Amino acid sequence: MLLPMKPLSHLLSSIPASATIAINDKAKALKAAGRDVISLAGGDPDFDTPLAVQEAAFQAIRSGDTHYPPSRGTPALRKAIAAKLARENGVQVDPNTQVLVGPGAKFLIYAVLAALCNPGDEVIIFEPYWVSYVPMTLLVGARPVTVPLSAADGFTITAERIAQAVTPATKVILVNSPNNPTGRVMTRAEAEAIREVALAHDLYVISDEIYEKLIFEGEHICLASLPDMAARTIVINGHSKAYAMTGWRLGWAAGPADVIDLAANLQSQTVTSAASFTMAAGAAALNGSQEVVEEMRLAYKARRDFMVEALNAIPGVECDRPQGAFYLFVRFPGLSPSAMTIADILLERADIACTPGIEFGQAGEGHVRFSIATAMSDLERAVERIRRLMTSL
Ligand code: PMP
Ligand code: GLU
Repeated sequence: MLLPMKPLSHLLSSIPASATIAINDKAKALKAAGRDVISLAGGDPDFDTPLAVQEAAFQAIRSGDTHYPPSRGTPALRKAIAAKLARENGVQVDPNTQVLVGPGAKFLIYAVLAALCNPGDEVIIFEPYWVSYVPMTLLVGARPVTVPLSAADGFTITAERIAQAVTPATKVILVNSPNNPTGRVMTRAEAEAIREVALAHDLYVISDEIYEKLIFEGEHICLASLPDMAARTIVINGHSKAYAMTGWRLGWAAGPADVIDLAANLQSQTVTSAASFTMAAGAAALNGSQEVVEEMRLAYKARRDFMVEALNAIPGVECDRPQGAFYLFVRFPGLSPSAMTIADILLERADIACTPGIEFGQAGEGHVRFSIATAMSDLERAVERIRRLMTSL
């Protein structure tokens, strides 16, 4: 008689697959099967990677840049990242010891959490949160402590709200501005509040700034640039959103050398490095003209303006105006208070795929996330379908 197989990893069995990726994949499969689904699910720019950036990768491949690169990233790209941080963010880092390039910002958030946390350490995460923060925290053996923010006051962060979540076990505050999914851009007062709590309680800050280039109102504040914060802040950024390079898998972490060292060890023992020729493209993107980044930003802004106005004109639909990123966090009081139900109805009756707000934590209940990294023609068709659905009720 065959013995039953031994159980698989309890830890991994408790971690779900990424909802944003699962819904995106499902929408693609439905489309491939011939259904006319409009996907507002994934945070993936519809633009192509700028030609000059593509060309740099082709050139790198043709000149033989197809071998294992330095694990921490090519010197040219690390230098370009340090120059960008100095030029745009007022942050000085040594490209040799304080910058780690890896296959996407996502892996680097995980590697930095792994570098910072011991079992039982607590990580403060603002809710609604990007779907991967909580699973990543659990994967490194730490404890996610969520701070629910409220749509009623525009998801405002205050020092009191953070301080209430601090315990002797708190190690890290994880911040994301511009925010996925709310589109909120952190104000100076909020940045000050985070700084105040981090300094008072000797905490690290992971600042996920992947949507930095996509701001329509407000200013980007790099948390490492605030007084005394460089020694405790790890900035996460990457090429995916700013340069429409999601498929290239390229991102970076910059911060204190001892943290970067440990994250680099994890990288060298697991994924080794980012791909060699993508790093040549990444350096070209950062060092070259930023005109196309601005063109894309203006396109997203026009889409945001169109969508916010069009959705709010439909009875039973409410949509706040996001200041950055490329997401709308929409309520459908005329349909249901349940994010899951709203998303199901939109898919079944309007052929629109979107992400239920509840995937971003309880504070996202009642919302669905629409990605506007989607062609204007599709956004117009989506609005028309929603209008038809809401008037048919
Ligand atoms: N942070 C946030 C908030 C995101 O939405 C994403 C989505 N791609 C990432 C990090 C990771 O980006 P990537 O791995 O493509 O660099
Ligand atoms: N970050 C994007 C999103 O939230 C892409 C998918 C993912 O990496 O989660 O949709």
